[in-house]
Amino acid sequence: MAYVITDDCTKDFHCVDACPTDCIHPKADEPGVEEASQLFVDPEGCIDCGACVPVCPSNSIFPLDEVPPEKESYIELNRAHY
Ligand code: SF4
Ligand code: SF4
Repeated sequence: MAYVITDDCTKDFHCVDACPTDCIHPKADEPGVEEASQLFVDPEGCIDCGACVPVCPSNSIFPLDEVPPEKESYIELNRAHY
């Protein structure tokens, strides 16, 4: 399983700072950050710890099995970023 970031993300990078496995990108100093519409979780690196959820002010992050039906396309979008 992996957590999924959805389109309400405002790219404030709070989740990047909270993630123990460095699996959320692009980070503020990485290529493509300006163009990115949101940040994305690398499903291969996510350990399902949930640390990113409470720090997200826009409630954009969901466990895979709790992604709202209208946001299911973001599951593949997060994966496709990697
Ligand atoms: S904490 Fe939420 S709003 Fe901020 S970058 Fe992460 S997903 Fe986006
Ligand atoms: S659940 Fe944990 S490992 Fe996965 S993206 Fe969030 S903080 Fe990182």
